[in-house]
Amino acid sequence: METRRLGNTEIRVSEISLGGVAFTHLGKKRSEKLIDFCVENGINYVDVYSGTAEKIKDALKRHRDRIFISTRGNSKTIENCLREFGIDYFDIFLLSMVDSQEHLTQAVNEAEKLEEFRKQGKFRILGIATHNPSLYPEIIKSNTFQVMMIPLNCIDEIEQSILKDATEKGIGIIAMKPLAGGNIRKYDSAIRYVLNRPVSTALIGISKVSEARQNLRAVKNLKITEEDLEFFKKIRKQLGKIFCRYCGHCIFPEPCPREIPVRTIMMLETLAYQSNLRRTVSEKTLKSVEKCAKCGLCEERCPYKLPIRKLLPKKVKKYLEMTR
Ligand code: SF4
Ligand code: SF4
Repeated sequence: METRRLGNTEIRVSEISLGGVAFTHLGKKRSEKLIDFCVENGINYVDVYSGTAEKIKDALKRHRDRIFISTRGNSKTIENCLREFGIDYFDIFLLSMVDSQEHLTQAVNEAEKLEEFRKQGKFRILGIATHNPSLYPEIIKSNTFQVMMIPLNCIDEIEQSILKDATEKGIGIIAMKPLAGGNIRKYDSAIRYVLNRPVSTALIGISKVSEARQNLRAVKNLKITEEDLEFFKKIRKQLGKIFCRYCGHCIFPEPCPREIPVRTIMMLETLAYQSNLRRTVSEKTLKSVEKCAKCGLCEERCPYKLPIRKLLPKKVKKYLEMTR
């Protein structure tokens, strides 16, 4: 696998990197198998989430000298995160869920506090993760972050000038959601789209070895084909803008007051595909949507302003049909 320099940093990341979201659903054995397979096939960057360490920390330890590891948190959580994963430092530490002007101001302040931890060797590179394109110019201008993790795929396009400005400033771009949160299943076209932009890596939430194989095949030839162009047109028309990217903002910083696992419900279709159309989500989870008080809190938090209240029962209905 080819590597690309991460902005002006000293590290080179593989063109495809392993997103940690799948480890929240997978068991230890499958998580380890997936990490082993990816690393053995040239993936050298893994993004991890707090709460998944017990499943993956042994595999991360086995490969520590061959991989870069990132996670998200703040100056209050970084030391706990290191203890949780049993490592001495993170290669990339991200301030995430930055989706408003207020969050960005807080992130810039937090960056100052984190500098002390960088000096102590607890992380190497500071990044920011956001789903709000209107913040990109200001993030670039702030001269605070070496890396931006942003959604980029053939539907969530980004103005070329933004990518150019970031590149000129030496900011590394980690493209998250290259498959639009699992909504695009034509991996080769989707990955070619992303890696033909000035990004360092496409961060993919791979959940099984067979998916990893398909993603790895895609990077063998990055030349955009006529078929790809046709596909981009078709999928833009098919998905429009009203689809979930599984970012989790709807349940952050607190879960739904009625304890509905909103993100899980929104991603039911992807879960059905991942389990080869077997029903793996419990009836209790599916029935939880009936408790919705229609308070709208989840919709206020969703950066894509999705009509979640309307979509929840539809998602359950479709899942039940798909997994009969
Ligand atoms: S519903 Fe919105 S906030 Fe929730 S996971 Fe999907 S895109 Fe993100
Ligand atoms: S609208 Fe329903 S799902 Fe959304 S936060 Fe309120 S109760 Fe939960």
